[in-house]
Amino acid sequence: MPRQVLTDDLLNRIRSRAAGYDAANEFFTEDLADLVDAGYLTAFVPESFGGAGLSLAEMAREQMRLAGAAPATALAVNMHHVWVGVARTVLAAGDHSTDFVLTEAAAGELFAFGVSEAGNDLVLFGSGSEARPDGAGGYSFSGTKIFTSLSPAWTRMGTFGTDSTGTDGPHNVWGFIRRDGGGVQVKDDWDALGMRASQSCTTVLDGAHAPADRIVRRIPPGPTTDPFIFGIFANFEILLAAVYTGVAQRALDVAVATVQSRRSMKNAGAPYAHDPDIRWRLADAAIELDGIYPQVDAIARDVDAGADRGALWLPQLSAVKSRATETALRVVEKAIRVSGGSAYFNRAELSRLYRDVLAGLFHPSDDESVHGAWANALLGPVPAG
Ligand SMILES: Cc1cc2nc3c(=O)[nH]c(=O)nc-3n(C[C@H](O)[C@H](O)[C@H](O)COP(=O)(O)OP(=O)(O)OC[C@H]3O[C@@H](n4cnc5c(N)ncnc54)[C@H](O)[C@@H]3O)c2cc1C
Repeated sequence: MPRQVLTDDLLNRIRSRAAGYDAANEFFTEDLADLVDAGYLTAFVPESFGGAGLSLAEMAREQMRLAGAAPATALAVNMHHVWVGVARTVLAAGDHSTDFVLTEAAAGELFAFGVSEAGNDLVLFGSGSEARPDGAGGYSFSGTKIFTSLSPAWTRMGTFGTDSTGTDGPHNVWGFIRRDGGGVQVKDDWDALGMRASQSCTTVLDGAHAPADRIVRRIPPGPTTDPFIFGIFANFEILLAAVYTGVAQRALDVAVATVQSRRSMKNAGAPYAHDPDIRWRLADAAIELDGIYPQVDAIARDVDAGADRGALWLPQLSAVKSRATETALRVVEKAIRVSGGSAYFNRAELSRLYRDVLAGLFHPSDDESVHGAWANALLGPVPAG
């Protein structure tokens, strides 16, 4: 039995607030306080560092449950869990350079994921931000990071920029800054179609400093097998897949309840749950979703076990995110179709889930990137010229 930290009571409380945060375009302040009290922000921290020590497979299950209650809350806290997961992956490789993430998370710090930049489709492999060396091993970061979830509340941010000052050519520098360390401006500019409570605002870094002991990598741009980058890939893709799977499961549950009470005049007042077309469509959605759970679970367990999937690791990690988010979108759409016009009203949970699930398309790895990775794995790169 996978271990759980979230009680059904807590999930119900969180679910009851989701519509209000969405309508008011408000951060999930009360949810966060409850999650902190429940020990959820330290659930993924190893026991030896003071956390509950859930595995990645268990954490993915918990994120599915949380997303079923409040997608935006789950998506935003995902960013914190990703950094904790990265530190676990790095530690498992015998490297203690990110242990402070585990210590600080255990002490109550909240980690944001300050990676995305406008128009940067290199994603993890190159940055338009500057990382300027301070001469003592530390760096100051300047640049604009977009979509920073947890904007009102984060206290630490993992970020990266380019150091072009060295004689060894440009390098990506990854480090962790403090919100109270200066050089950080958080804009109040989140007004999106869905995932509204995540408050994924723009963050402007202007000389935000990370001392030497908070600089965790200085690596050449481009693909790498470094455990730190692998850790980002693995934890990000799997936990993101979990969030959108949870959204889809909730949509399916809502649709099942809806068709039991929605009645057909044509069929003498029988519930739509008796209509063969409705039954087929719902079953179809459930069949699609059913395939996601074992895929998420198997790949998460392999990360937990330090298994070697060789050259297929990154394509398979992209694939689990891609399949989960694309499936979730189709499942939510089917749930809406069987539920009828009431789902189109803003007051309907399905209408919110539909807006929320759409965000899955934009996270890396996007559809183009996952297909490119698989095509390269199958066919090799296209020769230049
Ligand atoms: C709900 C949600 C939460 C997210 N949370 C996080 C997070 O916590 N941390 C994180 O790092 N990422 C986060 N992301 C970012 C996400 O993972 C993608 O990186 C993001 O959606 C950008 O995708 P894109 O490349 O398709 O967008 P782009 O096409 O790059 O567009 C993003 C923005 O940049 C502008 N833009 C595009 N090109 C240029 C250009 N050349 N010059 C100037 N402006 C340009 C666009 O107008 C747009 O406003 C989140 C995304 C979503 C939807």
